[in-house]
Amino acid sequence: MSPTTRKIVCFSDFDGTIFMQDTGHVLFDNLGCGEERRRLLDEQIKSGERSFRDVSEEMWGSLRVPFEDGFQIMEKELDIDPGFQEFHQFCVDNDIDFNVISAGLKPILRKVLDTFLGQQEASRIQIVANDAEIRSDGSEWKPIWRHDTELGHDKALSVKEGRAQAAESALDGEIPLIIFIGDGVSDLPAAREADVLFARKGLRLEEYCIENNIPYIGFDSFADVKREVQAIMKEDQQKTGGVGKPARFNPRANMWRRISSRQAVSWNDIFGGPYSWRLLMLICHRFPSLLLQLLRRRIRCSSGPRASRNIIRRAR
Ligand SMILES: [Mg+2]
Repeated sequence: MSPTTRKIVCFSDFDGTIFMQDTGHVLFDNLGCGEERRRLLDEQIKSGERSFRDVSEEMWGSLRVPFEDGFQIMEKELDIDPGFQEFHQFCVDNDIDFNVISAGLKPILRKVLDTFLGQQEASRIQIVANDAEIRSDGSEWKPIWRHDTELGHDKALSVKEGRAQAAESALDGEIPLIIFIGDGVSDLPAAREADVLFARKGLRLEEYCIENNIPYIGFDSFADVKREVQAIMKEDQQKTGGVGKPARFNPRANMWRRISSRQAVSWNDIFGGPYSWRLLMLICHRFPSLLLQLLRRRIRCSSGPRASRNIIRRAR
């Protein structure tokens, strides 16, 4: 039996997280613009000179090989995290949804997973990534971006959507626990949307978490992630019985969902976090009507509808 009854949804980065290398780098370095040019383009992203999307289009556009040829080199050069398959099986056994969330191209990630895990196991993993048009003769590799943003894929938005979906299908009174696993700075916006964050040790995401006081759990392999998730599930069941707020709960990530839910909003959930005053000022300034709705809901819960109407009239 699963150690918890709570719904758990895992989102994991792909390049550098599930696989030790970056699928794009393997292709560009061997069959495209070459390592030197790729490093220079990476620097242009870091310095802000060019956007990730713009540079990525140049990198993918430098490939002139059919998909199958590109895949042969990936099969040779990629290493899967040694604990990943066991962790994924653990997710399947415990009804934990496991999703890949990536700035890469979906057809490539799907083929890599099919090859390394087998089609049956890989089919249990949903991939949230950019699409691609790859001509059969290899004369064009063109990303079809998921979102119209500079990053092409707004991973934070995809995690938010995943959370909302999980909450919708959850039982009454159950709040899903969202886990994110990553390695790089590009994971940070999505990582902030999770209740529990895993960062690969010694890489940029971990450094960023330390520099910015963001709570995280470091890992060397998915065997560590499995052990920690097991402990979190046990702790959650003991403390909450799988109902209401999870024992590990990120109020910031859950705020908008809670506002739109039918439950009364707890001021402590919203304004009790480390960004409380900044958040309060932002809401007052940018969303006066939302503040009014919150007041209305809060007052209605404590005083009944007539009292709420009177107080809101006065507030106006
Ligand atoms: Mg990565």
